Amino acid sequence: MASDDTAAQNGGPISRRLVLGRFATASAVSGTFLLSSTAFARATKHAAAASPKQGPRPPAPLVMLDPGHGGKDPGAIGVSGTYEKHVALATARELKRQLEIGGRYRVELTRARDVFIPLDDRVGLAQRRGAALFVSMHADAMPDDPSVRGASVYTLANAASDAQTAALAKRENSADRFLGAAFHDASPDVAKILASLVRQETRAGSARIALALVHSLDRSLPMLPNAARHAGFQVLKAADIPSVLVEMGFMSNGKDEAALRQEGHRKLVAEAMKRAVDGWFLATGRAIVADGRTG
Ligand SMILES: [Zn+2]
Repeated sequence: MASDDTAAQNGGPISRRLVLGRFATASAVSGTFLLSSTAFARATKHAAAASPKQGPRPPAPLVMLDPGHGGKDPGAIGVSGTYEKHVALATARELKRQLEIGGRYRVELTRARDVFIPLDDRVGLAQRRGAALFVSMHADAMPDDPSVRGASVYTLANAASDAQTAALAKRENSADRFLGAAFHDASPDVAKILASLVRQETRAGSARIALALVHSLDRSLPMLPNAARHAGFQVLKAADIPSVLVEMGFMSNGKDEAALRQEGHRKLVAEAMKRAVDGWFLATGRAIVADGRTG
């Protein structure tokens, strides 16, 4: 499939890079959109580098994995005392290891150890580093109903899709309660339309990775009913990076918690997520195979 740049040059669908290149002076941080100025620099640099046939090839795309919680924020605490933050980090490390095999991606973690990182900083790091994909990794809890188990995958919604997901979004966003009100709006009217265009493309990419994850995880794990869900997660609000949040199971369910404590099970989860990431990059034409060709 053609890359973004090729499509733009051939008069194909309007691409994020083209849009960004034309409006490269604006930096939009407006309301629900977080669009970094470095994203513009990155986009124009890529656009300039990609048009001629010669010149250095772009580096392998960067996948930013985001293990939820950390440090003073344990996340959900399992029925036998397991902390979500530890499960999230262990699985993210395993997924990083698997994704790095073959050299098709660069992979970074928003946190590589047990430290607290505010939600906005996680998004900001992904933007500064020029991530092509952002995957937040969690394990949920529903103490009132320990029978509920299974994995689910979330993309950003302005309004949560149901009461359950609204409550979940509240719990995950409350990680910032340790910091106070860190999120404040600046709303320059410049680039509102631009931000909207970029967000539309990003949302399409987010929806594709979410569906890929649901299909892939469904082959390996119990899933929640209607496992592709929407919620207002703060950490999914990068306007310019397709972003998804995976709840790998329920810490409040004995079977899910026991499974997530096991290295073998976490490998299965990571393998399923890797299949989805591979498929997503292939479908978007942005995968770089080991010898540097676009795959
Ligand atoms: Zn969580």
